[in-house]
Amino acid sequence: MSPATTVEDEYAQARPRSQALHERARSLLPSGVSHDGRFFMPFPFFVTHAEGTRKWDVDGHVYIDGWSGHGALVLGHNHPAVVEAITRQARIGLHYGACHELELRWADLVKECVPNAERVRFTTTGTETTALAIRVARAHTGRTPIIKLEGHFHGIHDAAAAAVKYPFRTPMSAGIPEETLGTIRVARHNDLAGIEKLMDEGEVAAVILEPAGAHSAVAPPSPEFLRGLRALTSAKGVVLIFDEVVSGFRLAPGGAQEYFGVRADLTCLAKAVAGGLPGAALVGRADLMERMAFTGDPGRDRGARVADQGTYSGTPLVAAAGVATLEILKTGDVQRRLNELGDRVRAQFNAVLRERGIPGIVYGIGSIVRFFVGKTAAELGLDRSAYDHEELDRGMGPLGAKLHLAMLMNGVDYNRGLGVSWLNAAMTDGDVETMTEAWDRALVRLRRDAFL
Ligand code: PMP
Repeated sequence: MSPATTVEDEYAQARPRSQALHERARSLLPSGVSHDGRFFMPFPFFVTHAEGTRKWDVDGHVYIDGWSGHGALVLGHNHPAVVEAITRQARIGLHYGACHELELRWADLVKECVPNAERVRFTTTGTETTALAIRVARAHTGRTPIIKLEGHFHGIHDAAAAAVKYPFRTPMSAGIPEETLGTIRVARHNDLAGIEKLMDEGEVAAVILEPAGAHSAVAPPSPEFLRGLRALTSAKGVVLIFDEVVSGFRLAPGGAQEYFGVRADLTCLAKAVAGGLPGAALVGRADLMERMAFTGDPGRDRGARVADQGTYSGTPLVAAAGVATLEILKTGDVQRRLNELGDRVRAQFNAVLRERGIPGIVYGIGSIVRFFVGKTAAELGLDRSAYDHEELDRGMGPLGAKLHLAMLMNGVDYNRGLGVSWLNAAMTDGDVETMTEAWDRALVRLRRDAFL
């Protein structure tokens, strides 16, 4: 074996089994993956098992998992209460194709936690939930156009697929009809005046946004903007939809609504709501949610009702995981500790940057942590909340890919594409120290290679 030189070579040489599996995977799965975000060069590693805050790969490496099941595992891997609940339920039925009491317990818990959850409709994914929210808003208002914000992601369906990633003018995917893109009005992040102008140009059904910021706090929200948007949408009779797929139950039991003290009309929940299993929920104002209800009037039920049906919606296995998770998350103790952990990671990582004299900033909200190296907070405008949103969305580019590899080589994983880590409650203070050491070693490595 030749001595490794680049981080790419070093990563690859230490992972021969993952490399072989990736070769096989490429003939089975496009890019060898099941999710765009899991693909990276030279090849992704393959995992054998996970526990607590760690996961192990086929070549024997262990990683602190700062990705936490794409943010779904707020309690970490295999929390005993969740595993027990799933195991118990699996023995008595995965799917009844019928109502069951656990659905009600699950809905009660969601209602108890989430400020605007007057009614709950369980679904399976975040994508399905934001699509349903937009449908409800359109049915309610009788209007078609929606407003979304630059850099905000709402899943893979077409209805909100404009301006998701930099460059914002290119839709997030090929294959989206122009006609559909024509129903989306794009506003700049945190730009209340811009949204008001769009509303004045023509009636809109809804404003949908990630209240915790574009791409999970990559571009953080301004609380005044959220409050202003609430007032503006109420005044104009426009439905305000919060996409809390990531922030729900994570920032607080009531998610960003509780954290920022702003209520939406409809809220999209996924990830944490189902404790790591595929499950999600649309919640919101009773009058909006009741648009899905059967009334017994055949004309209205067939022609004016919002239809929704998902094979896996509210099924007992998922409900069991959701109930076990929310029973723990409802007190807010876990979130308070996680938010403190987030503050500690940010403080320690930023201290390393300062000590090493490396330009960069580690920022975020609560347990959502975003890494940016190569530019200072002042250059990004983050020191005065006048940030260059495109710059934040564009991210670190090739440097970000190298940073991720260097972090993996030092035993830490996170969402490479966004440069974001979602912490989980299994993380100990010792894990934060280990992560900080990994951060230091990764930066030193990149500097050695003259990238910093
Ligand atoms: N909205 C946001 C804010 C998300 O982060 C995601 C997924 N990461 C989605 C929607 C889509 O959720 P899902 O992957 O469950 O369809």
